[in-house]
Amino acid sequence: MNHKLPKLPFERDALKPYISEETIDYHYGKHHQAYVDKLNSLLPGSQFEEAGLVTIIKNADGAIFNNAAQVWNHTFYFESFSKDGRREPAGELAEAMIASYGSFENFKMKFGEEAAGLFGSGWAWLVKNNNGSLSIVQKSNAENPLRDGFKPILTCDVWEHAYYIDYRNKRPDYIKSFWEIVDWDIIASRY
Ligand code: MN
Repeated sequence: MNHKLPKLPFERDALKPYISEETIDYHYGKHHQAYVDKLNSLLPGSQFEEAGLVTIIKNADGAIFNNAAQVWNHTFYFESFSKDGRREPAGELAEAMIASYGSFENFKMKFGEEAAGLFGSGWAWLVKNNNGSLSIVQKSNAENPLRDGFKPILTCDVWEHAYYIDYRNKRPDYIKSFWEIVDWDIIASRY
């Protein structure tokens, strides 16, 4: 199977001033593309040659896992954003958030602490548990909670390449901006 870089659901300059066109050019146009290309170069002759990304993520190790997970993670991340979306959850997800965190504001604080506090490169995830409750999990490098049986519903990329052009070393400022572009209708549809 030849994996492809998915089209972005918005223009490259749509997330300004929170994420610049230059960051999208590098993060999507170069990093995300490079994971797709690397994965495609690794698959021929492997047992995952015809497998989908989720199957690879759940079963592979090493470079094939890393590149497949980074393809999936970045698609999931970029597809969380919109220019004019809902900026806080509604409905069942809002209820689950209140049950797990007391309030949306408290959830954002906790998630932000986990994202800012993750040492090195990785991803902060909001996942749905089997009983419908929510958890925040930190994952290093390419690691993905699908591998642990959780259902991911939101992720924040905290690799430096996600924010260094716009925010330099100020990861907390990037996380603050992250909330200005997350579309909670999309996140709710994953819950
Ligand atoms: Mn990234």
